[in-house]
Amino acid sequence: MTSVEKRDVLVVGAGFGGLYSLHLLRESGFHVSAVERGSGVGGTWYWNRYPGARCDVESLQYSYSFDDDLQQEWEWTERYAGQPEILRYAEHVAERFDLADLIDFDTNVESMSYDSTTQKWTVSTNQRTYEAAFVVAATGCLSTANLPEFPGLETFEGDVYHTGRWPHEQVDFTGQRVGIIGTGSSAVQAIPVIASEAAELTVFQRTPNYSIPAHNQPLEPAVQAEVKSRYDELRQAARAERSGILSIFPPNEDSAREASDTEFRARMDERWDYGGFSFYRSYIDIVVDPESNERVADYVRGHITAKVDDPELATLLSPTNTIACKRPCLDTHYYETFNSSHVQLIDISDHEIETITPHGLRVRGEEFTFDALVFATGFDAMTGSLLKMNITGVADYTLNEAWANGPRTYLGLGIPSFPNLFTVTGPGSPSVLTNMIMAIEQHVEWIRDCLVSMRDNGYAAIEAKPDAADAWVSHVNSIADQTLYPSCNSWYLGANIPGKTRVFMPLIGFPDYAERCEEVASNNYEGFTLV
Ligand code: NAP
Repeated sequence: MTSVEKRDVLVVGAGFGGLYSLHLLRESGFHVSAVERGSGVGGTWYWNRYPGARCDVESLQYSYSFDDDLQQEWEWTERYAGQPEILRYAEHVAERFDLADLIDFDTNVESMSYDSTTQKWTVSTNQRTYEAAFVVAATGCLSTANLPEFPGLETFEGDVYHTGRWPHEQVDFTGQRVGIIGTGSSAVQAIPVIASEAAELTVFQRTPNYSIPAHNQPLEPAVQAEVKSRYDELRQAARAERSGILSIFPPNEDSAREASDTEFRARMDERWDYGGFSFYRSYIDIVVDPESNERVADYVRGHITAKVDDPELATLLSPTNTIACKRPCLDTHYYETFNSSHVQLIDISDHEIETITPHGLRVRGEEFTFDALVFATGFDAMTGSLLKMNITGVADYTLNEAWANGPRTYLGLGIPSFPNLFTVTGPGSPSVLTNMIMAIEQHVEWIRDCLVSMRDNGYAAIEAKPDAADAWVSHVNSIADQTLYPSCNSWYLGANIPGKTRVFMPLIGFPDYAERCEEVASNNYEGFTLV
């Protein structure tokens, strides 16, 4: 009989959430380890190695704050770190805090079930079985790649890539005819870099996206030193921001709709020239007031028209939907790339890809020939990785049954009928609408405090109450309904996956959320049942 590995806590995933969970829980005296399906740490930065992959949150903010020596000593080289640098950072953290020995790599959870009698989880993986009192699912929000079922895909004789599952070996497109499907954040980053290598690049666009220039650049040592000299104060100020991200521009209460033409232009130009997500903080009502939103959208369309030489192409690349209701993109020479004669855009807004063929693909009756196909088709966001684990809670109730009508959590941390299972940045928490590493730290610290409190008070099990979860899901959606976020087919709503129930999954507003989590803890875990 194969032996069962026993743990106090089993963490699933060794990305930034998993690494910090391991560190904090071991420090607090728990027997903890992690399983990770990859062969190394880094989570999203382990898998997303596509050309041009880079973080859209500035590196001095997209980093852990929990250890001052770590944040003082690590030197970032660019305003926005590229994937290789972030992966090196994750590896450095694992080494510095001696975490690698706690991680079983190449280990994929196949199923897990809760035994109400023993109050323990049994977690079956492709390698071994674990029994743990608690499971911390640090499985990431964008970690299950979405590869739509294109007919004929298996017949393609060239190379096939998905941006979210990019090979570890260097991919060289030199001299190749490459087709890329999708124009979301991953494609917007990959297209200029692939175009710089490929002989021909054809971009299949179903919906154009708004993209703001990143203006990435080497990080000036003086800037880095200045931030590090005030790190605590700056991190604290970031946590008070709705997105958990600090901007050099002070917050304002101004309406884009009410601004005069001169004021509006000056402010938008300033943000455009600075680059990055500060653009969306130029006016407070961009994601609330349709007129303000349209004014900002029109400003971006003006830039697209100015950047793209061919007016018809500029129109095709110009979105008409609400700006920022899909996750905004940041780019480096995205629109300009379409001025190159070897790059072409194929609008498929009215035509599904009919079939993949042995030598390319066919759409609207036309055949395109490629050496390589790149799918930049995104992820089954926020719930995909959790639902894939075949989780069974109390009374044989499965997570797939529980979430048939969309994810139902309390605080994005606990799920009724699934005791002793915590989700790090789970649906119903601010997660993807914030700086993920900051959101991860807040969640992991809350989970650690909860486990320590349970141990101190002799509790063995904690479970979210159904009515608390129902009220929480209503709360998340009522906040989203006060904004323009739910107005387009975004992955925030699950709308990118055919058949997935549309529920707005992330919670808007980090500070109120963090305060609520603290209140719940100090009210003896109000909304949870402790036994
Ligand atoms: P995405 O935003 O979901 O974009 C997927 C693209 O594929 C969309 O253009 C979509 O078109 C298209 N698509 C999907 N299914 C298709 C089909 N059957 N036929 C044709 N086109 C299809 O995915 P992503 O670009 O990987 O980005 C996902 C998220 O990851 C981002 O929003 C962001 O949060 C994160 N990300 C972050 C960074 C960063 O920080 N730098 C970089 C990359 C990604 P439709 O729009 O019409 O559905």
